[in-house]
Amino acid sequence: MKLFKSVLLSLLFVKSIYAYELYNNTVCDKIWKRGETLLGFMEENNLPLSLYYDLDDAEEKLSADIRGNTIYQILYDKDKRVKQVLIPLNEELQIHIYEEKEKIYTLEIEPIRYQTKDMVLDIAVNSVFSKDIVDKSGNFPLAVALEQIFKNDVQFNRFKKGDRVIAFYRQKVRLGKFYGTQRVDCALIETRKKSFYKFLAQDGNYYDQNGKSSNRSSFIVPCKYRRISSKFTLKRWHPILRKFRAHHGIDYAGSIGTPIRAAYDGKVIFMGRKGGYGNTIIIKHKGGYKTLYAHLSRFNNSVRSKRVKKGQIIGYLGNSGVSTGPHLHFGLSLNNRWINPAKKIVLTQKLTGGKRKTFLKHVKLCKAKIDKLLNESEGKDVKQTKHGKL
Ligand SMILES: [Zn+2]
Repeated sequence: MKLFKSVLLSLLFVKSIYAYELYNNTVCDKIWKRGETLLGFMEENNLPLSLYYDLDDAEEKLSADIRGNTIYQILYDKDKRVKQVLIPLNEELQIHIYEEKEKIYTLEIEPIRYQTKDMVLDIAVNSVFSKDIVDKSGNFPLAVALEQIFKNDVQFNRFKKGDRVIAFYRQKVRLGKFYGTQRVDCALIETRKKSFYKFLAQDGNYYDQNGKSSNRSSFIVPCKYRRISSKFTLKRWHPILRKFRAHHGIDYAGSIGTPIRAAYDGKVIFMGRKGGYGNTIIIKHKGGYKTLYAHLSRFNNSVRSKRVKKGQIIGYLGNSGVSTGPHLHFGLSLNNRWINPAKKIVLTQKLTGGKRKTFLKHVKLCKAKIDKLLNESEGKDVKQTKHGKL
């Protein structure tokens, strides 16, 4: 029954553009404000606060991670009473609140339902790289993703008219709209008579057709630790709790008072308490990266709001906030999305052995697809591949 209700709700939302009436109920797309909290949201919408207080530690932490500007949906009845709510927590999980019986509400954390479409972008640059991509594809995150992939190879402000960009990517679609980040499988930029190919390897990083990486910036492990007590995951079914879980970082279990070091050069932009994270530091780095250090026992106050160098002590390991034992929760975000820090800490410059073999097979297939487009035409647009239409 629960599943049925949820599916029904999803169907209702497919047609939702902004707000519309349906059987005397109204579905609204709303935007989660920066700094808005789940508890505040419940109060504002007259939902029972017990829904919030009944969350377990991990769920509370997850709810503290709802990003500002997230689009969420509310279904109201004719008296403006909340019937259902869907709030994305990350790209894979959402909070689903619904009225089970008169005034009895249930909260569940469940997977987001989305489809994926295999798509191809093929454009000639006309004026500005990112603007041209957004104009042709309507997809701003795709432009950001491509800039990240090619940032060490290409100067984006030095494109010439007619320079070409081709990308094969997988796009998530939720409720009829592009959603989340793309998985770019391979891409080509032809600029100033030079060709730059990039291919996605199984380790999640991008390499050229020979398996070499041009990415040299790497983050350090921020503290000495005994063991990794929790890895990064966006969605995992916990068979004992029978709940979906996410963990937006790596937990390093260690002793209280162990120095915590800046994982990379940057500026301390937050130092204070932050919900379930307890004593928290956030450092902003170049290239759209931020690192987050949580559950600290104390801060190095001399770096508050200051620039720090990679390796500089910023605070000390602790057990503050919602924490089951002394550990550092280390989070890494790129353009305000949590990514797996493990990918950036261990960076391979060149693929070797079996990894390289598998990679080169992928290169062969992808390069053939790109080269076919190059030979075929000057075709400049976004197309769907045979796997699906939008
Ligand atoms: Zn953690």
